[in-house]
Amino acid sequence: MMKATGIRRGLGLLAVVVAVAAIAAGVLRYGYMQALDGLSQRGEADLALASDRLTGQVQRYRDLAVLMATHPALDAPGTGEADAVLLHAADRTSVLNILSVDMSGEVRAAAHSPQPAAVAELLASDFFHRAGEGALGFGHGIDPGLGTRAFYIAAPRFREDGGVQGALIVAVDVEALEREWRGDRPAVFFVDDAGEVFISNRSEILLWQRADVGLAPAVGPAPGFRRAMMEGHELWVTDWGPYLPKTGLHLVQDLPQIGMRAEALVDVAPARRLAGLQAAVVALVGLAVAAILFWLVERRQVLAQANATLESRVAARTAELSGANIALRREVAERQEAEAALKKAQADLVQAGKMSALGQMSAGISHELNQPLMAISQFAENGAVLLERGKTEAAEGNLRRIAELAGRMGRIIRNLRAFARQENEPVRRIDVVAVVESALEMTEARLAKDGIAVDWTPPAQAVWAMGGEVRLGQVLVNLISNAADAMAGQTEKRLVVRVEEGAGTVIRVRDTGPGIEAPEKIFDPFYSTKEVGASEGMGLGLSISYGMVQSFGGAIRGRNAIEGGAEFSVELEPWRGEQAA
Ligand code: ADP
Repeated sequence: MMKATGIRRGLGLLAVVVAVAAIAAGVLRYGYMQALDGLSQRGEADLALASDRLTGQVQRYRDLAVLMATHPALDAPGTGEADAVLLHAADRTSVLNILSVDMSGEVRAAAHSPQPAAVAELLASDFFHRAGEGALGFGHGIDPGLGTRAFYIAAPRFREDGGVQGALIVAVDVEALEREWRGDRPAVFFVDDAGEVFISNRSEILLWQRADVGLAPAVGPAPGFRRAMMEGHELWVTDWGPYLPKTGLHLVQDLPQIGMRAEALVDVAPARRLAGLQAAVVALVGLAVAAILFWLVERRQVLAQANATLESRVAARTAELSGANIALRREVAERQEAEAALKKAQADLVQAGKMSALGQMSAGISHELNQPLMAISQFAENGAVLLERGKTEAAEGNLRRIAELAGRMGRIIRNLRAFARQENEPVRRIDVVAVVESALEMTEARLAKDGIAVDWTPPAQAVWAMGGEVRLGQVLVNLISNAADAMAGQTEKRLVVRVEEGAGTVIRVRDTGPGIEAPEKIFDPFYSTKEVGASEGMGLGLSISYGMVQSFGGAIRGRNAIEGGAEFSVELEPWRGEQAA
């Protein structure tokens, strides 16, 4: 994966470099052509300027020759005056020499008197013949006397009858002409009809001969030369020393006025430099653009990768969360189920507790009901005997006792019924004292049988609190039964019951038993220290009581009293209805 990306990137880079190189090469070529065109135009203008200057200068000397040919002093030779005039003119115009010559070849006057051999050579030349024919003669060559290059102008001198009597020859110093533009750019040279470089602003190639196409020295080996064509431009690649271009643009212009051809070699190095610069700039810009593009693409890839990572992370996290959510929901459902099961178990326990309490009580109650029943039958029998004997007052006492006992039995039965009732009674105002009395009443038989002294003084008036009458009664019966159980083996058996009024209403049940073994466990279901199988060893009494007291907003606590024995307290919400009313 990484390798493939690397190869792709490498290929992309290569393609970009190749493309940039191709574009740069194109720009180089095009730029070079453009620069060559410009160079050629400028070079041609320079060449024309150089040619004009040369022809202009030559023209000046022609005018001089024509003018001097008519000078009157030349008509009186031998006096020395003519020589003086010519010398004066020669000095002013920096020519090599001015001669006045006869058609017979005799020198009549001269600025500088020439050697006879040199004169003979001049007289043999074309330009002298041209003057003899009455025209203006023009020529060039190495001056035979001085050995320097010279232009020659021969102006005819006419007699009065119109015939040519002689000629005035002006020898122009070519070196003096060259001196002014030596070293100028571009390299310019003038080649005569014979193919010889006669004038040039580069002395290296003076008097070189045209060879094939280029130039070569008249003697000795020819230095390196190569000719190349480029889009209509002729290029000379030479090795002609430091002052001539290595590669020159070759330009030509014909100069028939002086019988020569003007040529120039314009150095193309600046054109190359310019084109190279342009190509370099284009290449740089291209590379920069490519680099920016590359960077952008890379960045996009990195961003996309980061995005993908982020998305996968988010997806993973989401999956995790939804998994956790499902687990949580399952747990909640399980808890709800457990809670429902617990509630059901509690309800079942309450019912079981009731039934067990009922069982416990039935023994006591049958005993309790049996006693008054026996008493009633006794009183009834006695009452019948008393009525027979006419002791109606005593019989009336018996009947009242019977009524009392029946009332008591009725109360017991009512309690029993209420105790067995399954439906929830409402939480309302109850008289706590009455409930305590009723509970004591229900356990009276048991307490009496065990020989337990009951310490209970009811308050003067009713104590109101919020609760369920039947449930509170059950709770108290349970507490009293537990106390009785606890005191079974004790020598002192005393049950203390109190009702206290304060912020809330508190019922206290204290015994003289051995105290609670593990106070923190007594409200746990099925915690019991009593023998298994005994009628009251289920360990449910207190846990059911706890639930009941809580159901009407109270609290039940058990602890060991300081003076010994166990003390249970039931705290109830006080009744505030009367104050409100
Ligand atoms: P059970 O009476 O069936 O054992 P309870 O829930 O009523 O169930 O009581 C739980 C336990 O609390 C008892 O077994 C006993 O150890 C302890 N207990 C309850 N009341 C007293 C008391 N008055 N004195 C000492 N221990 C007590």
